[in-house]
Amino acid sequence: MKRTMCLGAVATMALAFSGCTGASDGNTEEATSESETAATAPIILVHGFAGFGPDEALGFRYWGGMEDLGEYLTNQGHVTKTAVVGPFSSNWDRAIELYYQIKGGCVDYGHSHSEKFGHYRGRPDVVKCWHTPADPSTAGFPEALYPQWDARHPVHLMGHSMGGQTTKMLVHLLEADGAPLEPGLFGGVKTGWVKSVTAISASLNGTTLTNVATNYVPMIKNLVAGVAAFVGVADENNSLYNFKFEQWGLKRNEGEKFLSYRDRVMASKVWNVSSNKDISLWSLSREGASEENAWVNTWSNVYYFSQATRATYTVGTVDLPYASANMLVGLFCGLGAMGNYGKDQSWHANDCVVNTTSMAGPSGSTVVKFTGTPQRGKWNSFGVLEGFDHFDVTHWPSNPLTLRKVSVGKDPVGPMRFWSDEEYHGYYLEHADRLSTLR
Ligand SMILES: [Zn+2]
Repeated sequence: MKRTMCLGAVATMALAFSGCTGASDGNTEEATSESETAATAPIILVHGFAGFGPDEALGFRYWGGMEDLGEYLTNQGHVTKTAVVGPFSSNWDRAIELYYQIKGGCVDYGHSHSEKFGHYRGRPDVVKCWHTPADPSTAGFPEALYPQWDARHPVHLMGHSMGGQTTKMLVHLLEADGAPLEPGLFGGVKTGWVKSVTAISASLNGTTLTNVATNYVPMIKNLVAGVAAFVGVADENNSLYNFKFEQWGLKRNEGEKFLSYRDRVMASKVWNVSSNKDISLWSLSREGASEENAWVNTWSNVYYFSQATRATYTVGTVDLPYASANMLVGLFCGLGAMGNYGKDQSWHANDCVVNTTSMAGPSGSTVVKFTGTPQRGKWNSFGVLEGFDHFDVTHWPSNPLTLRKVSVGKDPVGPMRFWSDEEYHGYYLEHADRLSTLR
């Protein structure tokens, strides 16, 4: 029974969808000439929209489903850490939280940004902190993922879905020491701190799912109810799930029941995307992504990789979902959803959550087909995994009720794929090996 409810709630997670080429300063010699480079650089996993951390879902993992991808790769000799950032926050807020979570310290969203959008800039009692030995005031907070992080101790960032946008934005904030609106964000450029970015099924140019999800607040409410059921099984009020909206003053109070916390958050005006663009829905829209891509560069000293996924096939002028698309996200692949009809046919194909064309590289960047030798400053594309929906690539279990592997006979591109454990392990291990050889 527990398992059934777990899968049912995962199905509710169906609602989870979750530049130009710039030149760096070229000051990468110190980082790249040191032995301490990609070989020992940890991989940091960054989840997408509505994601959650290893401690929030009673053993279910965003990265790996019924097993922990970070643990697996670490056991294979590739130290891998799993980050947790605001599940519904904007890419800006998520990228900055990611920085402090890796390096340690208390989040500072920046003076101009915080003033413009009207949320806390950073205050230890309401905003997140991570412990680093370099800052005694952070004692008692969760441990930072990699406090020694710097140019000689770089990291590889791997983001799924919105996590791809978040990670490439963090690279820019480091390499440029901020953004046009927020110069001097980190008190100096941090060239070479990130060796590579890997964007998996990422909304690099936004997703049309945000056009479908016009009724945002009820959608989130349903989603969170599903997550609460998922993590709390029978008792939603004890859910461990957290909006991580402390910057908006929406911290869960001690002893507060989850449903009352959820309703308090839902009643907030932060969800109103017409008046607040510092929120995930805007970051995920084509317009919001385009706005970000106008200032978030692809840096010439960083390796970028991308993996696209597609769960639809083309018939004439429309893209249809595989009959076997599971109920996890299959709902969004139906005709009319995801913009899979109409004039702009290049945006039809999708993995039920993100349009496939959005996944190769951000607008304005150079995308090259990966042929075995990664190129810096370009998006090395692994192409499209055909028949993969949005969470197949992170190895979430399919729901047996959908009979997804059975009713696939007539799909023209072949049956819906679903990785075996061995294939899934092999894919990520091969890439981790690849990252460790980057220089
Ligand atoms: Zn913000």
